[in-house]
Amino acid sequence: MGIRQKMFGYFVFFCAIVLIVMGLFQVVFLDDIYLYTAKNETADLANAVYLASKLDEKSFKARVLALADESSSCISVYRISGGVGREVAGAHCQPACLLHSSMLNESLIDELYAKSKSEEMHTRVLTDDRSDPESLIVAMRQNSEGAETFVIVNTPLASVDAALSTLQYQYVIVAAILLVIAGIMAYIIASRFTRPVRAMNKEAKKLALGNYDVDFKSDEFLETAELGLTLNYAAEELSKLDTVQKELISNISHDLRTPLTMISGYSEVMRDIPDERTAENMQIVIDETKRLSSLVSDMLDLSRLAGGKRELKLTEFSLTECIRQTISRYSHLCEKDGYNITFRSDEEVYVTADEILILQVIYNLISNAINYTGNDKLIMVDQTVEGTSVRISVSDTGMGIEEDKLPYIWDRYYRTGDYHKRGISGTGLGLSIVKNALVLHSAPFGVSSTPGAGSTFWFELPTTKK
Ligand code: ADP
Repeated sequence: MGIRQKMFGYFVFFCAIVLIVMGLFQVVFLDDIYLYTAKNETADLANAVYLASKLDEKSFKARVLALADESSSCISVYRISGGVGREVAGAHCQPACLLHSSMLNESLIDELYAKSKSEEMHTRVLTDDRSDPESLIVAMRQNSEGAETFVIVNTPLASVDAALSTLQYQYVIVAAILLVIAGIMAYIIASRFTRPVRAMNKEAKKLALGNYDVDFKSDEFLETAELGLTLNYAAEELSKLDTVQKELISNISHDLRTPLTMISGYSEVMRDIPDERTAENMQIVIDETKRLSSLVSDMLDLSRLAGGKRELKLTEFSLTECIRQTISRYSHLCEKDGYNITFRSDEEVYVTADEILILQVIYNLISNAINYTGNDKLIMVDQTVEGTSVRISVSDTGMGIEEDKLPYIWDRYYRTGDYHKRGISGTGLGLSIVKNALVLHSAPFGVSSTPGAGSTFWFELPTTKK
């Protein structure tokens, strides 16, 4: 069910409640409410008459007449002293009054007198055969200055039936008007509420078709504005993901194709031309195979790390020794190609970390430094201890990285340029692996670089022993 229909339903429900409450008060309880109000008004009138009895006789009579006239009631006031009652004032404003009718006999007055105990009121609703409207009689007795004042007020009750049919007619009209208003309101409100949702739905359909040029902006309501921002962000991220995915596929296919072409090319040449079966050509095939395997293992490492599938296997080990061993792996490269890797450390430092991952971090950073260092082929690895933390930095003297590219170098498959000039060729995944491994350790890391002068990559780990 749509918002519009739902809202209409709620409005109709609301109207129904209003109509029921109105109906109860105006139609069902009308009699009771009318009687209640009439009783209160008549009791007030009796009180006013009693208060007027304190005036001088002339004013009292005039006041009684005025009060009776105002309220269209009949009033009788008796003063009783020495057991004898005498009517001291009265007004007869109602033809249908029971008080002054011939039907009313002394016994009714006596009964009213008996029932209205001193300082209390006695209320009674009476019907005279002659009169259709019922009569309301309020009798009240008050003692003052040795004499007793007995007030009887008779108010005719109007017939509720006439009012009831008017109200019923009104009620139908009000119900119809309310329903029409509810319908219009439901339509207007629902249309306003659903407008941003409908607009967003239109944009979402575009997004589903792979069109990332969408705008979920909506300023109408706070909630939809927030939703719009979130969806815009999601669309932006999806678009990035899509680009990364496309780049990833083209990068992977490119990276895999090159060594595979080399391997098959050289192998065919060596199969067909016996003179070409040289150690150098064999080495090329071996190198390319290694490159392929390192590419595949990098991809696997990264997918495990980034997918959160890799759990840390923490052990305590010597970080200093780990660095030394990694550098020694490059000794043949140093001898052969003249690289100079220096390692400066004042002390043996132990850390509690995942040794395999930290080894990978150091290896990737040194590989990059070798790959990108300047013609002096210098690579500096420094270990500095500050308090309870050790900082490892790997510096080179290469062309450095421009500042605007710095934030992206940690992204997978990001390369600032295709300038792998040395034997160790990159996969574009090295720094991404470094980042994921260090994030998993919650270890701070970073890079500072001066274009043309070199870069320094660093990370920190808490030390466990000195
Ligand atoms: P690659 O396999 O291309 O080296 P990385 O993820 O290791 O991939 O590095 C990403 C990019 O960051 C590199 O392509 C390079 O442009 C830049 N980079 C990494 N290390 C250095 C460095 N020491 N000096 C200059 N640029 C670097």
